[in-house]
Amino acid sequence: MVKAIVGANWGDEGKGKITDMLSQEADIIVRFQGGSNAGHTIINDYGKFALHLLPSGVFYSHTTSVIGNGVALNIPYLLNEIKDITSKGVPAPKIMVSDRAQLLMPYHILFDQYEEERLGGKSFGSTKSGIAPFYSDKYAKIGFQVSELFDEDVLKEKIHRVCEQKNVILEHLYHKPAIDEAELFNTLIEYRDMIKPYVGDVSVFLRDAIKEGKNILLEGQLGALKDPDFGIYPMVTSSSTLASYGAIGAGIPAYEIKDVVTVVKAYSSAVGAGEFVSEIFGEEAEELRKRGGDAGEYGATTGRPRRMGWFDAVATRYGCRMQGATEVALTVLDVLGYLDELKICVGYEIDGEVTKDFPTTVKLAKAKPVYETLPGWKTDIRGIKEYSELPKACRDYIEFIEKEIEVPITLVSNGPGRNEIIKKNA
Ligand code: GDP
Repeated sequence: MVKAIVGANWGDEGKGKITDMLSQEADIIVRFQGGSNAGHTIINDYGKFALHLLPSGVFYSHTTSVIGNGVALNIPYLLNEIKDITSKGVPAPKIMVSDRAQLLMPYHILFDQYEEERLGGKSFGSTKSGIAPFYSDKYAKIGFQVSELFDEDVLKEKIHRVCEQKNVILEHLYHKPAIDEAELFNTLIEYRDMIKPYVGDVSVFLRDAIKEGKNILLEGQLGALKDPDFGIYPMVTSSSTLASYGAIGAGIPAYEIKDVVTVVKAYSSAVGAGEFVSEIFGEEAEELRKRGGDAGEYGATTGRPRRMGWFDAVATRYGCRMQGATEVALTVLDVLGYLDELKICVGYEIDGEVTKDFPTTVKLAKAKPVYETLPGWKTDIRGIKEYSELPKACRDYIEFIEKEIEVPITLVSNGPGRNEIIKKNA
């Protein structure tokens, strides 16, 4: 059975926690897109971890962690991450890296930095992890596949071809030092030796696992609103964040994805620039950010302060629809217990007309939020295990959201810990 865990919002919904939790019953956890440009924060018995490339299931010794072909593979970063968790007492994880994954090259990171410098204040708020240059090269067919590391002739020829082009840009557009071909070759040979023990044919591995009835989780990064096609383009990421892409980025048939657990945050938050209709500012935002603690303050990778907002039902319903959500995990609800009342954005007013459908970015820029206000519950809900024990006003808030987003909420997360979860329909 293949299950995807993805975000309906702008990322940071708490997918890491939900994946970590669902991994208890999983055999294989697959990363299918993105790279080290976003992170999941996980708190478990070993401590607190910020994972960027490793799937959130690595903490269990019964699981295999897979880096699928869709991922931007930063080899030294991955190796460091493995070293970091094992040095903190986590048993050495079983890891498989797709021989079709492509390498995030040292120059991708440089190009990301140089481009941000060049754009100055007009930048896209990149995390400078090299993700946009990586995916540009992949689709321009000048990327390096893991498999190519194992043929030195292929590698040399390709390095020469790619450097010819990159060095022109480095010299004339960015006025930076050129790439040294021999040095790059040596670096890639080092990468090859580092990654060799993990490389395999992931799609064959998953084909067999599916046949054997294994439980497979596809772990998405960021959220639907950061998808390059359906998100707030151009303030998006460079690979698809949608569950459907999980089939491609892992190498399995689309019809095998039976369940799409879509993670939704009980209020809105976003890192980086981009349209954000229900954003709040000033003291009101600061209070929520502070109350959010780890969930509120800073992005796991970027350390940038998060922008805060009321729950956006328009964006979330759309996010759930684009994800093909079959069920929703509503997270970080505990943070809202201090509020007298809560607003929910139920429509966008654009040029005097109210819509409930999420528009393209140009129209989104003109959207004004239409709110409904609900009473707060004014209690700390952490520690509650049964849905029926949540205060009525809190259940009303959850059920209002459920009706708006048109997907059943099956899990309610009321704390960052692995066991702080309420099964709603249990
Ligand atoms: P991801 O990228 O979707 O995995 O999200 P992040 O890990 O970046 O951000 C989620 C943050 O919220 C982390 O610091 C989690 O520990 C925290 N978190 C997750 N669920 C809850 C919850 O229900 N309540 C609280 N207070 N924090 C949560």
